Formats: sequence, C-alpha cells, structure tokens
Amino acid sequence: MSNANAQLLTHALLQQLDEARHVMVLSGAGMSAESGIPTFRDAQTGIWAKFRAEDLATPEAFAANPGRVWHWYEDRRETVRSARPHGGHHALVQLESMVPSLSLITQNVDGLHQLAGSKNVTELHGNILRSRCHVTGRAISAQWIADSTGDVPRSPYIGHGFARPDVVWFGETLPRHALEAAMEAAVGCDFCISAGTTSLVQPAASLPLLALEHGAAVIEINPMETPLSPHANQCLRGPASEVLSTLIQQLKSWRQDAGQGA
Ligand code: NAD
Repeated sequence: MSNANAQLLTHALLQQLDEARHVMVLSGAGMSAESGIPTFRDAQTGIWAKFRAEDLATPEAFAANPGRVWHWYEDRRETVRSARPHGGHHALVQLESMVPSLSLITQNVDGLHQLAGSKNVTELHGNILRSRCHVTGRAISAQWIADSTGDVPRSPYIGHGFARPDVVWFGETLPRHALEAAMEAAVGCDFCISAGTTSLVQPAASLPLLALEHGAAVIEINPMETPLSPHANQCLRGPASEVLSTLIQQLKSWRQDAGQGA
C-alpha cells in the first residue's frame, strides 16, 4: 500500500460504513495520545516506561501504600484535567450523528469522548476523575475529596476505608454492566472501528474479533501493527486525529456523490 492511500478507506468498506445500522468503536490509550495523555505501552513515552504497573495500579499496591498510589493518580488526574479532545474525538461525535446507532466502547479513563460530545459511551475501565470507597465500592463525591484533609481522603462510609480512583486495576474484573453493553455492541454491530489500542488487554481485545465472528467489517486505526491487524478488513496506519477526520470527510463525499446520482 502506498503512503498516499494508507489513510483512505477502500470503497467497499466505505459503502459498508455508509449502510451500517450499528457501528461500534473501540478506543484505547492511543486515542488520547494526541491530547497529551501518555499511553501505557509505547516504549518512549508510555507510563510503564517510567513506572512498574504492578507497583501502582493494583489493589495490592494500594493496600501496601495508599498514599503513593493516590498521589501518582493525582498527577495523572492533573494531566487529564488539562487535556482537551482532538480532531479524532470530534470526528467520532460527527460519526455518531451520521449513522443510525453508534456504541463507543472505551478503555480510556479520561472522559475525553464525553467532553467532545459523544453520547453513547461505555467506560470499560472506569474514570480517573471519579473516586470510590476502597472497601464498599460506593461512589465518593468530588466535593468530599476536595474537602478532605490528610494524605489520602478517607471514605465517608466506613471507618477504615479510603477513597480510591474509580478505575479498573490489574487483576480486577470489569464493571459487569459495561462489559455486557460492550459485548452486546460487538455482537450486534455491522461495522467496527478499533482505534488506538494495542489489542492486548483482555477482554477489550476480543471485542473486534467477536464483531468479526458475527459478520461485521472491522477496521483498525493505529500507526503500529497489533495482534488485531491480520484479522482486520483494513488497517489505516496513522494517528487517530488525522485518520478519523479523513474517514468522516470520505464518508461525507461518498454520500454527496451518491446524492448526486454519481
Ligand atoms: P496501550 O498504551 O497499551 O497502547 C496504545 C496504542 O495506541 C498502541 O498500539 C500505539 O501504537 C497506539 N497509538 C499511539 N499513538 C497513537 C495515535 N496518535 N493514534 C492512534 N493510535 C496510537 O493502550 P491500550 O491498548 O488502550 O491498553 C492499556 C490500558 O491502559 C487501557 O485499557 C486503559 O485503561 C489504560 N490507559 C488509559 C489512558 C487514558 O485514559 N487516556 C492512558 C493510558 C492507559
């Protein structure tokens, strides 16, 4: 494939997207990279290039040293609070208004899709800007956290409880309602876009394959090859902002041409 065409969807797939009744988008950390939020696994800039995941993003790490984990997340929250959606996030908002139904399943915990204006978003791994009690799991308000004193905010619900980020850590199970919604979208979609994910973290990585098994067309948007690449109907190699913006332009032109009876 030549570079010039590396980011263009084939006509056959464009037609499938045009006619799709239900589109599923699966996004991963690469979707937020251009908003200035580091990915986990990219060798040069990824968060795990500087820290060991098992030291910071596990229930065991929190039990051993809640303060260290809380403050590490506080740094990440600062980054997320100052991040803004990019053209790729906005392109997905447009896509949602151009198809009958779109489910956006995200592994990201930064809320950028919702900030951009996407409506039907399922957060598989929680949201870093929310907190919950580490014992009961009940939600803790941002106001409670802001008013808290001490190294780590205490839980309002139980004496020995702390506040923890409302995210899914390594070794934890995904929220059931989110996983069910994601699987339903994968089984029911006729077009699936996997954007900015290494396709390594389960069960999210299986969703595009599930979509394929149920007859959907699957495209991948990622500058790098992933385990999904050999199975995808097409891989668009490039950054999510450019590729998704181009995709929307292509779909608009396709519809315009069809409207003119071309
Ligand atoms: P990952 O870090 O493992 O992989 C990132 C992927 O994005 C890589 O395949 C990389 O090639 C690709 N990528 C990098 N820049 C890109 C760009 N501009 N456009 C498109 N793709 C690009 O991320 P993952 O597969 O999502 O899995 C790691 C887990 O880490 C996720 O489940 C998520 O919960 C968590 N995480 C979330 C955030 C966030 O919320 N922004 C950030 C880091 C990690």
